[in-house]
Amino acid sequence: MNTDLWKRACDVIPGGVNSPVRAFGSVGGAPYFVARAEGAYVWDVEGRRYLDYVQSYGASILGHAHPQVVEAVRRAAADGMTYGAPTEREVLLAETIRDRVEGCDMVRVVSTGTEATMTAVRVARGFTGRSRIVKFAGCYHGHSDALLAAAGSGVATLGLPGSAGVPAEAVAQTLVVPYNQVPVLGADVAGVIVEPVAANMGLVPPQPGFLEGLRAACDAVGALLVFDEVITGFRVGPGGASTMLGVRPDLWCFGKIIGGGLPLAALAGRRDVMEVLAPLGPVYQAGTLSGNPLATAAGLAVLRLLDDATYTMLAGRAAELARLLAEVFAEAGVAARIPVFGTLLGLFFADSPVADYEGARAACGNGAYARFFRAMLERGVALAPGPYEVLFPSLAHTRDDIERTADLARAALA
Ligand SMILES: *Cc1c(COP(=O)(O)O)cnc(C)c1O
Repeated sequence: MNTDLWKRACDVIPGGVNSPVRAFGSVGGAPYFVARAEGAYVWDVEGRRYLDYVQSYGASILGHAHPQVVEAVRRAAADGMTYGAPTEREVLLAETIRDRVEGCDMVRVVSTGTEATMTAVRVARGFTGRSRIVKFAGCYHGHSDALLAAAGSGVATLGLPGSAGVPAEAVAQTLVVPYNQVPVLGADVAGVIVEPVAANMGLVPPQPGFLEGLRAACDAVGALLVFDEVITGFRVGPGGASTMLGVRPDLWCFGKIIGGGLPLAALAGRRDVMEVLAPLGPVYQAGTLSGNPLATAAGLAVLRLLDDATYTMLAGRAAELARLLAEVFAEAGVAARIPVFGTLLGLFFADSPVADYEGARAACGNGAYARFFRAMLERGVALAPGPYEVLFPSLAHTRDDIERTADLARAALA
């Protein structure tokens, strides 16, 4: 760790970081400062190499600095960074998303996942003329006021704001309910927002019937169903979680992967719902850098390289890593659960499966993850610096990398 750089960072940036989890608060110690990254690896400013399972929280599914993505961005940059006028690549990206996600008709590109979910809430309210939003405890939907209630790692108390500075009125219309249980919806509900596979309280897959039940409950009262696929979109499979699980929401939020490592996210959905957005309809949304030429170039370059074969390969790697880690933990006599969904895996130090936020908090509150995290980091493996995150193997992680991870985990546990 570079103590001088960390001291300078803490002096000039609140907490030394530009996104809280990076500060290592829940795992202890000071963060490594990244100098560069390539494939499955990052190097810190002192030249130490880490096998990286953070991959920008899933944004880099190909691994870091993929040559074709780098070249696409380089070429785009030479043509200008941003214009404030429409471009062909925005159309291509929207078409690509529409063509891969079943039931999706239209796409509005924004810059962050937070903007996508915030806009989803506004669209749901504008479309239905209602105010109430239902979210699930432990699901994270970015940091807009209305969705900062029981939002993954930070927050515990039901229905209270998850942050200072969020007035009670801002979450007064947000109802927080337990994951994996279909709530009874009132006729005042504008929308239900959910991570179809929860990946911000560790990995918690939906139980059979949960998403189908939500779809039916929304239909019964005329509420919109919003799938926040900022992590799962183009990650768990070619069409994301909705296509894989066969449940169709009215709106989708995408992010992370579709920007190829640059700031880009999207709200997508049914035509009649999306048409409430300005300039067609009365729901306002805008962005100076929305559809940025570099970001669309990176996103398109990534999506072009993702096909059925790449997902099958990555899912195989994820399953192999889960299997090997489970073996290592069992040998060491450490109670651990390693849920897998498609290409994603989680790690809970718990002796029974986790189905909701309550279970996740019990599994994440015992300090075991922090010890394991530090022992792995010392051995050159970077896991996410918080127990509520998941592991993001990339297409650059070889079988060898996966096996080495398990060997290093064995050493770490010893
Ligand atoms: C990361 C994430 C967001 C927020 O995206 P940002 O680009 O960080 O604003 C929203 N929803 C989910 C499910 C996420 O994982």
